[in-house]
Amino acid sequence: MPDLLRGLGASAGAATGPAYRLADPPRLPAPRPVTDPDAEVDRAYAAIDAVCRDIGRRAAVTADETAAEILRAQAALAADRTLRDGVALAVRAGHEAPHAVAAVLADHRAALLAAGGLLAARAADLDDLRDRVVAHCLGLPMPALPEPGCPFVLIAVDLAPADAALLDPARVLAVVTSAGSFVSHTAILARARGLPTVVACGGALEIADGTVVTVDGTAGRVTVGRTVPAPAEEPPPAPEEPADLRGRTADGHHVALLANIGCAAELAGAAVEGVGLFRTELLFQHHIDPPTTAEQIDAYAEVFAAMPGRQVIVRTLDAGADKPLPFLRDHDEPNPALGIRGLRVARRRADILRTQIAAIAAAARASTARVAVMAPMVTTVSEAAQFTALCRDAGLPTVGVMIEVPAAAVRSAEILQVVDFLSVGTNDLSQYTFAADRRSGELADLLDPWQPALLSLIALCAAAGAAVGRPVGVCGEAAADPAFAVVLAGLGVTSLSMSPPAVPAVRAALAAHTLEECRAAAQRALAAADPAAARAAVTRL
Ligand code: PEP
Ligand code: MG
Repeated sequence: MPDLLRGLGASAGAATGPAYRLADPPRLPAPRPVTDPDAEVDRAYAAIDAVCRDIGRRAAVTADETAAEILRAQAALAADRTLRDGVALAVRAGHEAPHAVAAVLADHRAALLAAGGLLAARAADLDDLRDRVVAHCLGLPMPALPEPGCPFVLIAVDLAPADAALLDPARVLAVVTSAGSFVSHTAILARARGLPTVVACGGALEIADGTVVTVDGTAGRVTVGRTVPAPAEEPPPAPEEPADLRGRTADGHHVALLANIGCAAELAGAAVEGVGLFRTELLFQHHIDPPTTAEQIDAYAEVFAAMPGRQVIVRTLDAGADKPLPFLRDHDEPNPALGIRGLRVARRRADILRTQIAAIAAAARASTARVAVMAPMVTTVSEAAQFTALCRDAGLPTVGVMIEVPAAAVRSAEILQVVDFLSVGTNDLSQYTFAADRRSGELADLLDPWQPALLSLIALCAAAGAAVGRPVGVCGEAAADPAFAVVLAGLGVTSLSMSPPAVPAVRAALAAHTLEECRAAAQRALAAADPAAARAAVTRL
């Protein structure tokens, strides 16, 4: 196999270690007739019991409460009496143990989906449960993070959310996936944990277990079979200045460096000026019922308390599509990414948005943080105006919207007449501009933030902001790429929000260039024919 594999750098940094692959889900063998039904039922029960024990053990050892909650719910499904009864019946009807388990769990899955709500949200847990019980029946390794006894580089097609939630930086040095994109949730979680990650890496699955690899998550390269030092071109972390966390170009032009977070814990040790994107939906992703006002006030207050005197931009719930919330799920949507997601949920459930805004306002009143609020998936000026009115009525003075839909980008000047700021969500803006699912590895080239069409839309928004003196930030994952951050600063973007571990490299890149150089880089990138030419033009500068 080649000793250099290329993919997309999805989380910066470099790490070297032995590679180990996440086991594939087991395949069912061709069915054979059952000769001893009792023995076959025992085989199925033994597999179910082993899986229950394994999941229970994983729930007990994880320090991550979200992951523990997912695992406990899964253990309860495995222990359900109806699973055993159904499997026994299926075996006696002539199905071997693994086939019986798969058939019964397929029925349970259909029933959960039909029931909706929290039960429907557990359908994915059932798929994982099926894989585990089938693997045990067949004597195959259970799908799980490898346990080689030393820190390792994880190789996978992609990671299920439950696997991604369990990534422990003490065990996993880096992640390489053959599928996925820069904005898939594997990539976002890896960035939040500071794990160097390369996604959409062809050939990754051919790396034999135990082979030493070096993962360069900045350049999107995996060196196979030999140890190489961390790349020289990676900018060294900037010396921290606790008294002044402001991002600046070499000649002192301020570009605010902010954090993307899903909860207060992600701010621990973050050297940022504030929070540019608080993804509130991540707090409530396992809730059956909408969170109460009191529950929300507590969650928001925890983040505000970590940022006294600093800016915190709270995004209202971005539910739907790839981030379904059990209490807002609609199973009949034919095309969820183009359906009722983000602010559009308020068309059906205005009460949920009102409760959230009231909770943000209450928590803001009790804090010294400079709280702003913004809405996701805004498409028109009138949606922006309605959102602003709602927030101002609730006593929240600073209101913005995300620019994630091309229609909003082309009307950014008009939207800025009714809001205080814009925040460009490049993950979704790429998805909708290029009609390419943000989770698709195969379309990763279209989702490349250096695509000239995306740059043109960002330039349009930044110019609209500059014309009226209102801030226009970027909070999509692209802001974490140091070279791209220089381009964004040159386009006139006023803040960059990213996973906290990415901040030092972006700070260093800005500090190494004057505003004029950033502008020149932006012009070169805008003039380039494609992403590769844009990168090359900026690198040459
Ligand atoms: C985006 O779309 O760029 C964004 C920041 O929002 P999310 O990734 O949460 O959809
Ligand atoms: Mg988005």
